[in-house]
Amino acid sequence: MEKKVCKEHVEIALDIIVDETGEYPLLEELSTSGQVICEFCDADATYVVSSKK
Ligand SMILES: [Zn+2]
Repeated sequence: MEKKVCKEHVEIALDIIVDETGEYPLLEELSTSGQVICEFCDADATYVVSSKK
């Protein structure tokens, strides 16, 4: 599972993944900013939150 989000929505994405996986997710900065839109709003995504799986 992976969510691409802006700074505003990082915490929401973390919460969702913790809820669904029971583990603390990985948080990485997106290298390709400007091409990906946040899952929760229309801003550019700056982070990728992903489960370790
Ligand atoms: Zn957002």
